[in-house]
Amino acid sequence: MTELTGKTAVVTGGANGIGRATARMLARDGATVFAADLNPLEENQTEFARLGIRQVACDVRSVEALRSLIEQAIAETGRLDILVNNAGIGMVKPAAEVSEDDWDRCMDTNLKATFFGCSLAIPQMQQQGGGVIVNTASNAGLLPRTHDPVYSISKMAVVALTKSLALCHGKDRIRVNCVCPGPVGDTGMMNADLEQADDPAAMTQKFIAASPIARASGRMISPEEVAASIRYLVSEAALMVTGTAIAIDGGKSLGVPPAG
Ligand code: NAD
Repeated sequence: MTELTGKTAVVTGGANGIGRATARMLARDGATVFAADLNPLEENQTEFARLGIRQVACDVRSVEALRSLIEQAIAETGRLDILVNNAGIGMVKPAAEVSEDDWDRCMDTNLKATFFGCSLAIPQMQQQGGGVIVNTASNAGLLPRTHDPVYSISKMAVVALTKSLALCHGKDRIRVNCVCPGPVGDTGMMNADLEQADDPAAMTQKFIAASPIARASGRMISPEEVAASIRYLVSEAALMVTGTAIAIDGGKSLGVPPAG
């Protein structure tokens, strides 16, 4: 028996990157995990089946799709203990080039889905006497950046949402926190950025150089390192932790260029 045995977890964006690493970690520690994604991956099937992870097709931009995801988890296990609102997309465009469709896609995926994921999970958690929500925000939710204003706005709003709901639902013993990763390697999002870069190796070095610890370690942050913080936040050890935005960025958000 492990700490999460008997618990039910829903992880959105669970087919790849940070979400997949989180789904694996929660399942290995005993949780029944529903890994929801717009693009469930065939390559996950064998490993997910071994870990008991259910891969669910779900477009989180649709409130109805989110509702049926949450209902499926509750119908199959009778409970919902952990929700990780992690699905997200980037939006690298200057403000003058952002279309209404760009805005809607980014805001609906990163912000609207996070809000409605929470609002749909909260009644079940209230009924159970508690629960834990972790939202994947970003470094961009702590400090705005020059190249992706809409993404920054969406992630800053996720930080605000996290703090607001933590305040509203502490009385229900529902904890709400978010993680704010810096550049994470081996993710769909990072791979897409690198594929579009003129010089992927130089871009990788730029990301590494931006944070003191990544620079000293000579590598980017890994999805597993972000998942480990999410794992901490859902643990009993974090019982008194709510409303926080944890930077997992090797010190990038300190805002001081690394020395050396
Ligand atoms: P990723 O692309 O590997 O994972 C994101 C997952 O979300 C993908 O599997 C994708 O299919 C899924 N997804 C996208 N739109 C969806 C939708 N409408 N419905 C359901 N699923 C959808 O990238 P990742 O880095 O693991 O991203 C996870 C989260 O981490 C995102 O919220 C992202 O903003 C955040 N983040 C990533 C980085 C980074 O450098 N990779 C840094 C900070 C924050």
